[in-house]
Amino acid sequence: MRTVEVDPARPSGEVLAEAGKIIRRGGLVAFPTETVYGLGGNALDDAAVRRIFAAKGRPSFNPLIAHVIDVDAARALAVRWPAVAERLAERFWPGPLTLVVAKRVDVPDVLTAGLPAVAIRAPAHPVARGLIEAAGVPVAAPSANRFTELSPTTALHVQKALGGRVDLILDGGPTSVGIESTVIDLSGPVPTLLRHGSIARSDIEAVAGELALGAEGEGEEPRLGPGMVKRHYSPRARLHLFARGDVPALTTTAAEATSRGLRVGAVLRLAPDPPGARVVRMPTDPAGYARVLYAALHQMDDLGCDLILMDAVPDAPEWAGIRDRLRRAADQP
Ligand code: AMP
Ligand code: MG
Repeated sequence: MRTVEVDPARPSGEVLAEAGKIIRRGGLVAFPTETVYGLGGNALDDAAVRRIFAAKGRPSFNPLIAHVIDVDAARALAVRWPAVAERLAERFWPGPLTLVVAKRVDVPDVLTAGLPAVAIRAPAHPVARGLIEAAGVPVAAPSANRFTELSPTTALHVQKALGGRVDLILDGGPTSVGIESTVIDLSGPVPTLLRHGSIARSDIEAVAGELALGAEGEGEEPRLGPGMVKRHYSPRARLHLFARGDVPALTTTAAEATSRGLRVGAVLRLAPDPPGARVVRMPTDPAGYARVLYAALHQMDDLGCDLILMDAVPDAPEWAGIRDRLRRAADQP
């Protein structure tokens, strides 16, 4: 495994060509997108897709997103490209929006976990776009981490999680959005929001009309998208989320845990520093918060924390993607 630094704005053509060749030959390349780092392989190559599942330890019922360069390349994977897909792509691509549409028969079943629909996204990050172009094929790319663990937002996170399981890591610095893409299912009669991301639901509804909400998946039904597994996006440490204003409980929990000899970390937006905890201060705006969320949790794991305490974020719609990730990362009550 090799890590190569690339300029995130203007990546070297030579490096991209080499990475593209690895993808075409069935290998795996980790690369930055604007959301998180992806673990990329040829989406049309069964063996390469299986290699992605194996490297992540991801169960085969969890479908992958195919990354493409543009709408034409997306259409080539779809049996139908509905008018609403066209409008959404026009408004939000390239960018952090994934569209699920009925797939053509030649799209591998392993990619879609046997589902009749395929998830497609055209990323905006120049390194991702350069890699997809150089590969000349759609690139299947789930987040470059082990299943259920934290998503990577730096090349170092990828190295720590996947080490030798990937042929090449393109290091384009930290990602800018920081949480995974918004996922909209357009394969049924009503556009359905399967996963919140960084795009406001109201902005999507302005283009697509009212969105239905996907049922939150539990268990092993194949309808589950990866982001819908309940425990997901998790640090190694146990994570406790405290309601806003519940500073007394946060303080007591920290004091109790430290007195029992536990190493306590706190990732806080507004709550004051609790006693004995290693504290990371978070930005108060949603975009800033999302950008550094996974890095903060990685840092807590690196510090060997047993317990991470966090204060809940606002209920406002622009925090929906973040609330979703925190809920999944936290201990279930
Ligand atoms: P990830 O690859 O971990 O960033 O997440 C992939 C996301 O895409 C999941 O949250 C699913 O909601 C969704 N997904 C992928 N493929 C399909 C599919 N064929 N049908 C429905 N949802 C899908
Ligand atoms: Mg993931």
